[in-house]
Amino acid sequence: MSETPRQIALREWDDAYERLRAAGVPQPAYGGPLGRHVAEGDTRLRKLRFDNSLAALRLWDFLLTEEDRLQLARDAGKKLVGTMKDLGTVPVMASSLDNLVAFYPDGAWWIPCVMEVNSGLLQIADSLGIDESFCPVRAMLGAFVTGAHFPIPDLLTCSVGATCDDFSAIAQRLNGLGYPILWWEIPHRRVPEDNEGGVQLPGGFRAPASLVRFVRSELERIRLALEKLSGRVIDEGTLSRGIAKANHIRRLLAELRQAAFTATPCPIPALEMLIAEMLAIHFCSDQEETIAVLQDLLDEVNRRVAAGTGYGTADTARMFWVDPVADLQVMNLLEDCGGRICGTEYLFAHALDPIPTDVPPMEALARMALADPMVGSATDRAARIKAEIRRFGAEAVIVSRIPGASHCALEGEIIGEIVRAECGLPVLEIEVPPLTDAVSPSLRTRLEALVETVVNRRSR
Ligand code: SF4
Repeated sequence: MSETPRQIALREWDDAYERLRAAGVPQPAYGGPLGRHVAEGDTRLRKLRFDNSLAALRLWDFLLTEEDRLQLARDAGKKLVGTMKDLGTVPVMASSLDNLVAFYPDGAWWIPCVMEVNSGLLQIADSLGIDESFCPVRAMLGAFVTGAHFPIPDLLTCSVGATCDDFSAIAQRLNGLGYPILWWEIPHRRVPEDNEGGVQLPGGFRAPASLVRFVRSELERIRLALEKLSGRVIDEGTLSRGIAKANHIRRLLAELRQAAFTATPCPIPALEMLIAEMLAIHFCSDQEETIAVLQDLLDEVNRRVAAGTGYGTADTARMFWVDPVADLQVMNLLEDCGGRICGTEYLFAHALDPIPTDVPPMEALARMALADPMVGSATDRAARIKAEIRRFGAEAVIVSRIPGASHCALEGEIIGEIVRAECGLPVLEIEVPPLTDAVSPSLRTRLEALVETVVNRRSR
């Protein structure tokens, strides 16, 4: 089904799926009409618009069946590792053994959106003293209590130290409820002083060698725990193979980002790109399938670029997006307003950078963990964002704040000031709650105004 790219509603996808099935088009084992997820409570899908490629259908199917995959893994005797907060490091270690499967309970962050606040998870968090002054990640507490959204993992890890207050508080509450957590510390990243050795990190920052050594020792504790859980040794060869696979995924994403953010017309919508980028964090609990899903998407994107098909025109306003949206529908809204995505920083840039392969694997993972945008300063984040703005030729920046999130109270302002001053671009800061229906008209007005500003600036 290589048709003219267009966004279609859920019902249209389900009709198309039936036609595909009748025509004998092969589907992955987890495939099916997307509408079946609505019956399971994912009602927000009815309001989204999806890219009409088979590759996009596979991507959505893959994303929405993670819970089934985790259950199947457990039934097959594999051990489940719930990795919290580090967004990209421990899953690389766990995935290097084929009897471990890692996932992020933090992914519950999106349940209030996808289930349109009907899951009851936020109410459970409220009852446990974690109210709306916290970010939507508090839904994770409810998911543990109900056991209805992911199997309770055999091992839970969580990075602490240079992490947001929300996550620290919620993970401690979880621990207090009787879920044991293996904590590991990630210190705040700083630049090396003149008299101490510095180490180059993926993504371009430098950190003192002592900090890298410390993180490495913390990750050694994780390695021991994973070995104990799996009953196998994670030696250097095993880890190197795990890193090679993760790098394969990162390479695919780099190609995808390059094409998606630079080609005109835009070959793939913002929403599908957001989902694709997220796969870098934990591979949606299946590394091999992540590779296949991303390869499919990249092939489709390359086909569209070669054919000159896609969304929008050369006049479409080119936006750089900072922070993930709590309501996925806002990515559709951006395009409705005449914008497209040309660069993103969704809080996990370190999960997209290639992991070094010229140093021992544990050293490489420690360097990667320290490259996390969340463990450094807002100025560091702004530096990366500036470089990417120039690389992808963005014409404006949108910072989407997350209600209650402690990481972004002032960060958006700092990033905005730096980008305005040094790139000379307009910056719009918006707050995106898990459901934007009530504020959609004002969000639309603000996004349209930004698009208009971009267009007017071109004629100056
Ligand atoms: S406050 Fe920010 S970094 Fe922390 S859990 Fe929420 S969204 Fe993630």
